[in-house]
Amino acid sequence: MKRKISILGSTGSIGRQALEVIEKLTDKFEIIALAAGSNTDLLNEQIRKFRPKYACANNINEVEGARHTSLEEICSNKENDIILVAVSGRVGLKPTITAINNGIDIALANKETLVMAGDIVMPLARAKKVNIIPVDSEHCAIHQCIKDISQVDKLIITASGGPFLHKTVEDMKNATVEETLHHPRWNMGKKITVDSATLMNKGLEVIEAHHLFNMDYDKIQVVVHPQSIVHSAIEYVDGSVIAQLGLPSMHIPIQYAITYPERYEGIKSKSFSFSEIARLDFEEPDWDKFKALKIAYNSGRLGGSVPVCMNAANEEAVFAFLQGKIKLFDIIDTVEKMIYKHNPVFNPSLEEIFEIDNEIRIKTKESFLQLR
Ligand code: MG
Repeated sequence: MKRKISILGSTGSIGRQALEVIEKLTDKFEIIALAAGSNTDLLNEQIRKFRPKYACANNINEVEGARHTSLEEICSNKENDIILVAVSGRVGLKPTITAINNGIDIALANKETLVMAGDIVMPLARAKKVNIIPVDSEHCAIHQCIKDISQVDKLIITASGGPFLHKTVEDMKNATVEETLHHPRWNMGKKITVDSATLMNKGLEVIEAHHLFNMDYDKIQVVVHPQSIVHSAIEYVDGSVIAQLGLPSMHIPIQYAITYPERYEGIKSKSFSFSEIARLDFEEPDWDKFKALKIAYNSGRLGGSVPVCMNAANEEAVFAFLQGKIKLFDIIDTVEKMIYKHNPVFNPSLEEIFEIDNEIRIKTKESFLQLR
């Protein structure tokens, strides 16, 4: 039987690659719905090719060839076996919760969902017996390594280190948008590429891992591994370490997440050769140069609304950087300032999370006006 899938964010980097995977596995999947943002042209192309029943976009009247729908409707449609949440930012949170409430499995590529509301989302998923399969390559690697989570003592998350790994603080201070978007290993969307340059992406991933695998922050370690061959690892209580390796390609974790627990050839990466790779390097992150990592650990440990504040301030600051309004280092300075001023709310409700998110975004944008 074909697995029925919907993709939220079908025109984004993950969504496009997911459709490339599905194209190789047409006998395994039936697409129920595709949802995009403003790229209606590409969405219409995807509709012509993949023939989903439903489609959703910002300019819904320009969408042709499928019945119009909304994110909420897609996630309430129990025809779906699995929904790939590949939208970026906070828009992923509500639809994910709706899908979980409807007992639909989630392939999760949207880390904000767990950073903002992991304490709500994960217990709900457990109660509804819904699988949340991570698409994020590190978490996907850990998911592949774990047999019994109760025997795991530590998660080891690898970080490529981004384009500024061995550059000086001075280089980073003067970095242009173009230099920042030039990631040495991974081809991703703009927001996540900037986050990879500041290591905020790794910070968000630490919080994501804490929620996904219910692991204390003290037991989550980040190690810089420039080749991006070891995608992450776990250490068992007896000291045995299991790592997942592969050539860097997002197709593989996407395919793993949407086909789990099956495995197919699909988009197979080039066969792995240890001798061709020859060496793998690992180093401690530079905590002083990449302050974002420390900020994320601290925010995660404080919990409550603090990660919400961190995420909202970071996202707005990244947008401002991409628009040339602020410099690269201003991003993390801004995040730090916003957290410092924030009055944390513990155990926030979903409504409170969205309120705080909105409030921080407004305050963050106002802070840029003062900078001028
Ligand atoms: Mg990742």
